[in-house]
Amino acid sequence: PYYTWIDKETCIACGVCGAIAPDLFDYDDEGVAYSHLDNNKGETIVPSDVEEDLLDAHESCPTESVKIYQKE
Ligand code: SF4
Repeated sequence: PYYTWIDKETCIACGVCGAIAPDLFDYDDEGVAYSHLDNNKGETIVPSDVEEDLLDAHESCPTESVKIYQKE
């Protein structure tokens, strides 16, 4: 399964990831993205039905701030 979090240090608050994957990403008061699966901890399995959205967001982020990793 996949896990995800946002590198909030490099996010430029462009709004792309939440548009692509609204079930995964939301924005704080300053528009910086975070994973709302688990408040950006990156410890919660991404539901399989939004894996495609995750990969799209990962590839579309202009600053490579949508982090993903896979583990068994
Ligand atoms: Fe931030 Fe990237 Fe999401 Fe844009 S796509 S809001 S830069 S994490």
